[in-house]
This record gives sequence, structure tokens and C-alpha cells, in this order.
Amino acid sequence: MPSNLVTSISGVGPQAAERLHHLNIRTVADLLLHMPRDYQDRTRRTFLRDLSDEECVVQGTIVEVAESYKNQRGMQVFFEDETGRGTLRLLHYGSYQRNLFRIGSWLYVYGKPAYGKTFIHPQYRVFHEDPGEPASEFRPVYPATASISSARLGAWIVQAIPETAFFPKFKYDELTLEEAVREVHQPTPTSYPDSMHGAFRRVVFDEMLAFTLVQRRQRQHKNHETDPLPSIAGLEQKLLHDLGFALTSAQERVAGEVLDDLSKPIAMRRLIQGDVGSGKTVVAALAAIRAAENETQTAIMAPTELLAEQHFQVFTEWLTPLGIEVGLLTSRMATRQRRSQQDAITNGHAQVVVGTHALFQEKTIFKRLALSIIDEQHRFGVHQRMQMTGKGENAHQLVLTATPIPRTLALTMFGDLAVSTIDELPPGRTPIRTTIHANERREDVVEAVEQQLRNGQQVYWVCVAIDENEETTLSASTTTFEQLKERFTNIGVGHVNGRMRVDEKNQVMTAFREGEIRLLVATTVIEVGIDVANATVMVIENAERLGLAQLHQLRGRVGRGGEQSYCLLLYQTPLTGSSRERLEAMRRSTDGFELAEVDLKTRGMGQMFGNRQSGVDPFRVASLSSFVERYEELGSVSENLLRDHPSLADEIIATWTPEGQGYAAT
Ligand code: ADP
Ligand code: MG
Repeated sequence: MPSNLVTSISGVGPQAAERLHHLNIRTVADLLLHMPRDYQDRTRRTFLRDLSDEECVVQGTIVEVAESYKNQRGMQVFFEDETGRGTLRLLHYGSYQRNLFRIGSWLYVYGKPAYGKTFIHPQYRVFHEDPGEPASEFRPVYPATASISSARLGAWIVQAIPETAFFPKFKYDELTLEEAVREVHQPTPTSYPDSMHGAFRRVVFDEMLAFTLVQRRQRQHKNHETDPLPSIAGLEQKLLHDLGFALTSAQERVAGEVLDDLSKPIAMRRLIQGDVGSGKTVVAALAAIRAAENETQTAIMAPTELLAEQHFQVFTEWLTPLGIEVGLLTSRMATRQRRSQQDAITNGHAQVVVGTHALFQEKTIFKRLALSIIDEQHRFGVHQRMQMTGKGENAHQLVLTATPIPRTLALTMFGDLAVSTIDELPPGRTPIRTTIHANERREDVVEAVEQQLRNGQQVYWVCVAIDENEETTLSASTTTFEQLKERFTNIGVGHVNGRMRVDEKNQVMTAFREGEIRLLVATTVIEVGIDVANATVMVIENAERLGLAQLHQLRGRVGRGGEQSYCLLLYQTPLTGSSRERLEAMRRSTDGFELAEVDLKTRGMGQMFGNRQSGVDPFRVASLSSFVERYEELGSVSENLLRDHPSLADEIIATWTPEGQGYAAT
């Protein structure tokens, strides 16, 4: 049962829909599955005598209403409870409020006192009869963005609640998803927080179950027959000859495994795992060449526009001389340009196509897709994974990841894939030296950077969000950019962030690659895959906020040439024990696998409502560690469902699959 689009909710127009899209919410079901990160407790009334600087509910009778026109226009509503007198102050108001506040009426106020016992623009309600004690109420607080508040989301979600009736009727832990979702958004005050916890657990279980079901389905079809792609013209050899470097023995082994898979009449399902800079791209290119030789097409899916653009350049450089046509398709291309690319894909002119998710929208029809390559898999959630499977289920599939995944996790996350590991870096690389610095010693870091710039090196300076808010990250990176530009007047200082258009970003990145910009201030948009050999210094601010997988990824942007490279991690004091442990691990180790183990150990289950840091975790609401913990249980529940209630299994998968992406249950 496909869910309606969010625009079917009253009050959600095209603009709001666009904003919701940034939260990965497209359908009413997505909206319902947007989980609160916390709850506001509005059940306990606070006496005016006992006010602190916390949010609270107070209640009293209005005793006086005054308007002032002097210094600052304002309305003051004085009210009293048994213990004292409080003030509600409005700076903006109109005739509605003038009529509303009457002496003798009852007033509820919810908010945080601005000073003393005065509330400025709190939330309030006026009653003309004694309302009694405030009704118990836990208001969910939703992960929000600068342009959509938690309150608006909440209002839309309340409207969407009736649609939970369409969720699959599968009962587990004595709850259906419908019941659980209702409870999470509108918890029962009498049993809060227990019932809410149970409900949340149930929703989490459902997502993990959907993921497991997809995996099991894929495993069932592991021996899917398809057209083999044998070696025909030996074009691979030509690339290897022209490359200018020899493959490492690890690359050779892995390329061999991949090409061997391709020559079989069974669809390949393979994951290549290899540290940042280990040279996965060239292996992917060899596979694409093989597909082109067989007159079939390859789709290469990158997680960001920037990375797609970079891959496009590399593949063009490598494949065009072999007579292979390379195309680019991203969501931010001009419509006309995109259409013509799509035509080229449909008529088969484009043989290798690099793109972002847009590539896999229904609209894009390949003439003969035989190979799908997903780069940096860790960025792709369950849903994109399902999407991929939906597109050309016969296609060979190759997944690349730079995130070294601990063994236990790899077995559970990628149980349906064969794994190849590139466990060797190209020769001539000097290990990166990592140091950690308290933010108070920032000046030391700036001086070290200055020294490196003077030596002719290039520097990345990455600003990390203080919270997950896009605005704050942007403003932090803007401030740092301004400061550094002022400081280093003689050299090119650039700024790249997620708000920029693709062409703007590319312009900056090109200038950096060409050395015109020597110091590049960036948000984490540069995280994945960007390759500038001359960059030897990586500074990361608020490093304690990131997981090790991400820090390791970022650090991997340097150390690509022969020069000694440095990574300087700045942190905000005071550090918690586990943050210190993580930064120490970064200083001590450059082994991605070791870091992944530390990450798993120190970050663990995470807080139930904690910030979701991007990393290995592909889930919307579930977490990897609970997935690993409950793996067996999930497996047996899935097997039973697939055997006894296959259509229910389909419904569960569909609930968690984005609209229009058509997971094809092969
Ligand atoms: P990743 O595995 O992180 O995707 P890339 O494929 O981007 O790494 O490779 C990093 C850099 O190393 C690229 O510039 C690539 O051309 C180069 N490279 C790859 N393999 C080798 C090799 N065997 N010898 C020397 N350089 C190599
Ligand atoms: Mg890469």
C-alpha cells in the first residue's frame, strides 16, 4: 500500500514539502516514522514561588492587564497563583490578545521565564472557566531544521496519525507498528515513559526487520542467473598500461575476484572494502570496462554531487581513450542537460554513467544495464539499498566502502554479499602524523598551518557542526573562513559548504586542486573520496563530535602524495572519557579496522534520542549495535515471515522503502 505524499497533509505546500525532503520525508508514512528525539514534560505544574530557569507549566488567575507605549511597546498580563505573582509579556500583539486577556480569567503558561517571574512570548492558553489542573501531556520534540520547527512537524504528524491504519498488521512484542507509532507520537501519560520505550523499541524493530527481510530475499536470489561478461577485447590491459602506476598486489587480487565474478552467468554481489586511498576506484573502472566491452552499461552511484563529479572526471580520463563514453547525471544539473543525459542512457550512447541518487529515479531507463557500482556504501541506508536492488535485479552489483567494518558487523550488514579486501596502500606513502589540541591552543594550530603554507603545502580546515543543525555548521565555517582569510592575506583561502551549488563547489574544488586556493575551509561535505595529492594538512575543529569512521575518512584526504602529512584535531574542553579515548585512538592508530572496533566499543548503542552521527549506520531509527544484538532474533522472525506470510513481509519492506523507488521483490 503506497503511502500518500506529504503534500496531502493540509498545510504542507510545495515549499514545506521541499524542506521535509531535506529530512528525508516524502510520504505520510515517512512523516509518521520520523521519531521524536525527546519529550517535553507538561504534566507537572510549577508554583510561581518555585520557578527556576527551566521550562515549566504555571497556572493562575489574571489580575491585571497593562499596555505600555513608552520605551517599548508591550502588553503585560499579571497573574497570580496561590504562591505568588507572575507576568506574561508580549511585544507583538493585536486586538485578538487585547480581547483575550480579561481580569478574572484563568491562564496557563508554558515556557521558560526570561527573567524573574516574567515570561516573554511563552505558549499560553486562556480559559474563562476554571480549567482545573493541567491535563497530563507529553509533547514530542522532533529533530527539526532551521526552516521547520518541531512544533510544525508535530502538528503535521498529528494529522497523519489516522494513516497508521494502513501499516502492516504484524504483531510483535504484543504491538503492531500502528499501535507503536501512535504511542510514540502521543504517549499515554499514565504509563509514560514505559509504554513509550516499548513502542519505540517496536518501531526500531520494524525497521531492522525490513532490512533483514531485504537481505534474506537477496540471499535467496543470490544465485540469480544473468548474462556473463567475459573478457573480449582486453581493454583492461590497455588501461593498466596507460595508468602510469602498477596495481598493488591487493588491487590485483581483488580485481581478479571481481572480473572472475563478472565472467560467470550469476549476478555478482560483491563488497570491496579498502581503506581510504587504497585505490578502489581503479578496480571499479576495470569492472566498468569489462561491461562496456560486452556492449552493456554500468551505473556508478556516488553519495554526493562532489564525488560524482570527481568520479566523472577520473572515469572520463581513463575510459575515453579506450573509446568508452562516460556520462554524468546529478539531481542538480539543469533540466535540459539532465534530459539529454537521460536520453543518452536510454539509447545506450552513454556506456558508463556516474551519478547521485537521481540516477536511480524511476525516470532513468537504461538500455542495457549490466553492472551497478555503489561507491562509499556506508552513506547509503537501507532504503537506497532496496532501491538499488529494485533497479535491474539481474545486474551485477559491486559495492565499495572505505569504512572498515568490524567483522561481526560485516557479517550482519552484508550477509548477502561476498567481501574482498584491499588491505594494502599504494607504495610511497608516509603515515600521517596526528596530534590533538584543546581549543584554547588554537593559536598553536594556526601557527603550524602557517608554517606548512609557507612550505608550499595545501591545507584543509574542516568545521564540524556543534549540533546537527545545518545553519550552525554553515555559520561556524563562515566565521573560521573569515578569520583565516584575514590572517593569511597573501595566499588563496577558499570556502566550500553544503549550501553551495554544484558548479560553485566545483569551482572552489578545482581551484584547490590546481593550487590557486591553498587553504580550504570546509564543512564535512569534503568527507568522502575527494582526492588532492598536494594537500598535506588536515585540521578538524570540534573533532570530539565525530565518530572515528568519519574522522578516519577525513584524515584520509591527506597523505596521498609522498610528503609527510599531518592531521591536527581540535577539541572543545572538557572532554568526556570516551571522547578522549576516541581521539587518543586517532592519534595512536591509522588502521581503519582497529579504529572501527574502538568506535563500536565507545559509541556503542548510543543514547536513545542522541544525535545521529553519520557513519556506518544505515538506519533511520534503529542503530547498528541493536541490529547486531538482535540479529538472530531478526533472522528467525524474517524466515518465518518469508515462509508463512510473504505478502506481509512485502508490506513491511514497503513501509520502510521510500516512495516511488519500487523495491522489486525479484
Ligand atoms: P579510494 O580507495 O579511497 O577510493 P582512490 O581509488 O581514489 O582511493 O585512489 C587514491 C589515489 O591513489 C588516486 O589518485 C589513484 O589514482 C591512486 N592509486 C590507486 N592505485 C594506485 C597504485 N597501485 N599505485 C599508485 N597510485 C595509485
Ligand atoms: Mg573512493
